[in-house]
Amino acid sequence: MKIEVDRELCTSVATCVAVAPNTFELDDEGIAIIKDPKGDDEATILQSAQSCPVNAIIISDDDGKQIHPPVK
Ligand code: SF4
Repeated sequence: MKIEVDRELCTSVATCVAVAPNTFELDDEGIAIIKDPKGDDEATILQSAQSCPVNAIIISDDDGKQIHPPVK
């Protein structure tokens, strides 16, 4: 599973950090960064991505297929 944060979209709400505190943290600018891509289990990381109000967290599977946000 691959995790990315779109720094342009992130609005520092930090719900991702609340849901998956071992995976995400906020940097000096208050933007979410990945501190450990395997810090939480995959279900928790996916839940944290779904909790982001601006869909700034992009999750792809190992084949590069985007899981979240859903591709239309
Ligand atoms: S929940 Fe979304 S907007 Fe909030 S800090 Fe995390 S990535 Fe940024």
